Amino acid sequence: MKAAMLYGVKDLKVEEVERPQIARNEVLVKIRAATTCGTDLKIFQRGYVKKVIKLPTVFGHEWAGDVVEVGDDLTWPKKGMRIRAGNSAPCLRCRMCQNGRYNLCEDMLWLWGAYAEYIRVPARTISVNTQEIPPHITYEEAAIAEPLACVLHGAEAAGIQLGDTVAIIGAGPIGLLHLLVAKKLGAASVIMSDLIDKRLEFAEKLGADARIHAKTEDTVARIKALTDGYGADVVIEAIGLPATWEQALRMVCKGGSVLEFGGCPPGTEISLNAELLHYGEVRVQGAFHATPHHFKKALNLITSGILDVKPLITRRMPLEKITEAFEILTTSKSDAKISIVP
Ligand SMILES: [Zn+2]
Ligand SMILES: [Zn+2]
Repeated sequence: MKAAMLYGVKDLKVEEVERPQIARNEVLVKIRAATTCGTDLKIFQRGYVKKVIKLPTVFGHEWAGDVVEVGDDLTWPKKGMRIRAGNSAPCLRCRMCQNGRYNLCEDMLWLWGAYAEYIRVPARTISVNTQEIPPHITYEEAAIAEPLACVLHGAEAAGIQLGDTVAIIGAGPIGLLHLLVAKKLGAASVIMSDLIDKRLEFAEKLGADARIHAKTEDTVARIKALTDGYGADVVIEAIGLPATWEQALRMVCKGGSVLEFGGCPPGTEISLNAELLHYGEVRVQGAFHATPHHFKKALNLITSGILDVKPLITRRMPLEKITEAFEILTTSKSDAKISIVP
């Protein structure tokens, strides 16, 4: 089968590889759509998520497809079923899992291999993080359940309340999903900041109430101006840079909350003014990945039509052109997600 193999930074090649063989408790899925993700782009450009990915590997982790082979020991899913699966399956045995913090599992099983014709889904992933896709939504919409799950987990941690003013740093696909979720949670106003005008225009189309052009404007000053000098109730960093992690801390009001969502490289340190936590009672919260519960909820929101993720797919490309797709995401910056179709 054809698969996009990642060997290292910016070293991605479409090759002919062996079609995966399944065990008695596994399924083989023919991938019908795989969506590009900020995490993929980061790994492609910087390659530092060592705990999560081992190279070389078939790349990609957001996918949906048709079950074409079912191991003899399985009663579900059935052959021909349209399914999606999360890219992670917690062990359910470690201390973190037993505390209910499944996204922090110490023995997480990661599933890579979306940019290929077929993917083998392991037993653990089938039992804890696989869902059937209802017929009325597309494969690419279903694939977006993965990043949406992460955003739901983050939004829960941020504690967005009805009527809040929410500031989001970064209008990439993750920032845009945060925008959609914040609006649904009842944020009265969502302010987006980004360096790229086209992204901000797109955010406005998706419902952002105000935009800050970070290239020409002082983001912190603008947030203060838009909030009578107080700062936003909730600030979400959706880029993953120490400078914007620190900037987020200067944009929040007293008693508010900061969600540091974008992952910085391991070992990164930021400085934080203790006054903010003590006299300001600001809550600073990180968020990593999602639990199977969030994956299910994300798919529910897409299938019910409560969240429309279709506008996030800005382009479709065949698997053979995946390197070009990543070049486009690196340079053009006006695309949100590209759907890769084998
Ligand atoms: Zn993703
Ligand atoms: Zn675990």
